Amino acid sequence: MRNMADEQQTLLDERALAEATSDPGARIEQLRREIEHHSYLYYAKDAPEISDGAFDSLMRELRELEAAHPEFHDANSPTQRVGGYVGEQFAPVRHARRMYSLDDAMDVAELDAWIDRVEEAFGRFVPVVCELKIDGSSIALTYEGGRLVQASTRGDGTTGEDVTANLRTVKDVPLRLREAGMAGLAGGAAGASAADVPIELRGEVYMPKRSFDALNAAAEANGKQAFANPRNAAAGSLRQKDPSVTAHRDLSSFLYAVADERALAAQSQWELLQWLREAGFHVNPDVELCETREAVHAFCERAVERREALPYEIDGVVVKVNSFAQQAAMGHTARAPRWAVAFKFPPEEKTTLLRDIAVQVGRTGKLTPVAEMDPVVVAGSTVARATLHNEDEVRRKDVRVGDTVIVRKAGDVIPEVLGPVLSLRPDDAQEWRMPATCPSCGSPVIREEGEADFRCISIDCPAQALERLLHWASRGAMDIDGMGEEIVTRLVEAGRLSDVADYYTLDAVELAMLDMGRVNKDGEPIRLGETVAKKLVAAIDESRTRPFARALFGLGMRHVGKTIAELLAAAHPSVEELMAASEEDLAAIDGVGPKIARSTYLFLHTPDNVAVIERLGKRGVRLADEAGDAGEELPQTLSGLTFVLTGSLVESGMTRDEAGAALKARGAKVSGSVSKKTSFVVAGEAAGSKYDKAVALGVPVLDEAALLRILETGEAPQAEAE
Ligand code: AMP
Repeated sequence: MRNMADEQQTLLDERALAEATSDPGARIEQLRREIEHHSYLYYAKDAPEISDGAFDSLMRELRELEAAHPEFHDANSPTQRVGGYVGEQFAPVRHARRMYSLDDAMDVAELDAWIDRVEEAFGRFVPVVCELKIDGSSIALTYEGGRLVQASTRGDGTTGEDVTANLRTVKDVPLRLREAGMAGLAGGAAGASAADVPIELRGEVYMPKRSFDALNAAAEANGKQAFANPRNAAAGSLRQKDPSVTAHRDLSSFLYAVADERALAAQSQWELLQWLREAGFHVNPDVELCETREAVHAFCERAVERREALPYEIDGVVVKVNSFAQQAAMGHTARAPRWAVAFKFPPEEKTTLLRDIAVQVGRTGKLTPVAEMDPVVVAGSTVARATLHNEDEVRRKDVRVGDTVIVRKAGDVIPEVLGPVLSLRPDDAQEWRMPATCPSCGSPVIREEGEADFRCISIDCPAQALERLLHWASRGAMDIDGMGEEIVTRLVEAGRLSDVADYYTLDAVELAMLDMGRVNKDGEPIRLGETVAKKLVAAIDESRTRPFARALFGLGMRHVGKTIAELLAAAHPSVEELMAASEEDLAAIDGVGPKIARSTYLFLHTPDNVAVIERLGKRGVRLADEAGDAGEELPQTLSGLTFVLTGSLVESGMTRDEAGAALKARGAKVSGSVSKKTSFVVAGEAAGSKYDKAVALGVPVLDEAALLRILETGEAPQAEAE
């Protein structure tokens, strides 16, 4: 921290002196230079020479002078780092030269294969530069006449987005090049003109781990969507519509490349890094010029070891042939330079204690084993639970309660238990088995031929009942506004709700008296109250006239998501017709396979279910479509947004097609590939390259829970909390 009282004193004396000269233009310029210099020492060099107080005092004076003399306004003044508002869209920017990706080396053997190719090209090992691969968002900065004129994202490599206003708020990015840097511009010796040729420099904008944690903690406290990792957070922060939001995100940069090396006197990557430092950029200090293969290996090993201690995320080491001439000799493929390779770290793994394997009972009776672990931070977020899918999976992984287990995030999003550390297994650890009876209702559980899942098939199972009741009332189904988990649980406990037809017997008087299981400060039970009760009854009443497909979906038949329910209702627009249909009739509907036909048929011919359906009909729930219903449109709240779905959805049981249809029903577009126009990528389990692409393009990534929230509320997350 700046903390030098003498320094402050000299500065203040200097100021008094300059004020005496009463040339505001000169003073403004002097202050700007001084502030730039101290910003550079502070942000890029981490070696401040004056105190915070003195720095602030210089800033204050500059601000006052600029306010008094608007004729000296300059967008690149240090006072302008908190920018104004930019338009709705980011303008496209064509890069001076393509921004390539990097070829990956997933292990040491692949790294060696790359080194072999370099040796083949030159007949010997040639010097290479090892750099840390910063896990942030790529950025291209254009300077003209030494001044920052444009900043853009990588985009598709050829064209990125103009994020100049946002980038100005990143404090370690020089708004003007330092004098020492101007001399290194190619032709700098020949005359001043070289300085006027635009030069495009490249690097990475990143969010330090601590700032990321703080940002996510705040998002959580405000009920907003957290970022999946610091890389997403950096990309999302750079693409804010309002630069003052970016300014409040603690972003930093590391520069390491130039678009066209002919713009500089530097002849190699090593010299380029040196020049970038002189010109005022923040350059990562962990770089090494390696003369041997062993030195490269050693650098990579050290990087793996130091990774966790670094204040920012890295995901590998980039190895680059040092000499620009040799780089040119090796050239590029369509995708990436041949003269560089990214040695990728294995995905971050952590160990923690497996406390328990709990069993969750879903709406359709499916039993899912869930690992409950001591909380541990993996790849940027806390993990305490992870699905173990089914009994076979638990056996295959051989995890036992009491084990120390290894967890990682698949696709950096979904927590996954990889397996136990066998040497740490307690002697008495027992092999895990699915309980023979349902943990919720005690009925025997069954596993059908050829199925991986165990199920509780009892109609009376309270866990299923609760899930089914909630599902009926949920937004996508009958949409009973206000009927949430707490109230439904209380009603079940009070014996007032056991199946979905019971909703239609509730009245406002008894609801108002519902005991919420808590007491007020006088020790009296808290009740639901009249106002809420009246609203609930109105919402229940309103749900009676929902389209038939919504009721069908609400019944929670296995394999019948919203889209399938719509197909069923379109083919058989009343419950009588649907019940009269044979299994073959159902399977003949376009989009309905034999599996769905079977589960639908079975459900509709199980006496308990028939009884519930009859009661629903008697209580005024419409179980048939009227003319015109089919065209019912949901509010088009997602219009203008494009979603890409990747990986498989596990929690909801929806297929990707169903999820896509549900998004489209609200006006969204659903696309098969990620581009910079994509608004959100939804990453399910085992998400693949689309996820990586989203991250590379700075497209916000949502998990399945976020998708379900969108479908439930009809609202997409705010740009603020991408
Ligand atoms: P990938 O996106 O996996 O193909 O990796 C290429 C990206 O790595 C580049 O676009 C840069 O954004 C990023 N990167 C991070 N650190 C470096 C570095 N030191 N040198 C080159 N690229 C880097």
